[in-house]
Amino acid sequence: MRRSISIVILCVCACAYSAPAWAWGQEGHRIIAKIAYDHMSRKARKSVDRIMGQRGIIYWANWPDEIKSDTIYAQSIKDGWHYQDLESGLSDSLVMDALVHYRSVGGNLFRALDSLKAIMRDVETSRPRDLERAKRVQTEHVLRFIVHLSGDRYCPMHLAHMDDKGGNAVKMQWFGRNTNLHSVWDTKLIESQGYSYTEYAQMIEDEFGWKRKAIEQATDEELLRQSYHMVEDIYRYQETWDENTYHYIYRWHKDCEEQLYIAGIRLAKLLNEIF
Ligand SMILES: [Zn+2]
Repeated sequence: MRRSISIVILCVCACAYSAPAWAWGQEGHRIIAKIAYDHMSRKARKSVDRIMGQRGIIYWANWPDEIKSDTIYAQSIKDGWHYQDLESGLSDSLVMDALVHYRSVGGNLFRALDSLKAIMRDVETSRPRDLERAKRVQTEHVLRFIVHLSGDRYCPMHLAHMDDKGGNAVKMQWFGRNTNLHSVWDTKLIESQGYSYTEYAQMIEDEFGWKRKAIEQATDEELLRQSYHMVEDIYRYQETWDENTYHYIYRWHKDCEEQLYIAGIRLAKLLNEIF
């Protein structure tokens, strides 16, 4: 492996946005990983199991969030690997430009993910079984980041606005308790349905399976643009919402589920391509 994760860390430039903005919570990442695992090719599944352990894709999906206060890969937090905030009112071409050319501010999700994917492809074309143990551990870490960050791409609030810290500064009440817009999309909408991650993944696959082909065939740019328009709608809804939590859930839970499905299918596609 010529490139190493330390090079990624150097490549992913520091950004001015210091407040962390987390995307999908634990259940969300597990749902995405489960959907991906269900749709991976036999070859990809075998390779991913070899590197991460049997169904490790699900068990390690949250690891990049869990190490946020650790010094290991501290740059992933400092440089904003988990999000790519975008200001409001961007034209479609500017949204696509953000994906293709990255951005110097507002997070480094797209840049980090592309660098990690390139590393993983290098590993897979250079006989991974010959790698010594230290490099194999590093490879596993790279894959954990890819699984996690690929999911973060489709959490609407991680494409949200920089000036409110990705919705973290938008205060809300949720069944009488204080929270914020980011946290609602992180966890609260998902938890409101009361499913386990396996039940929820199955339900989402049953509900949105008919869209699978279209999602597989879409480009990253098209799906990003779709997510961005959803973010704009979420902010607009905030202005007219009557602050009834049930109304919020009814309005948005299906959209949230579809994003989880898209994230799972796209992660499967990505891993099928790598392996
Ligand atoms: Zn994250």
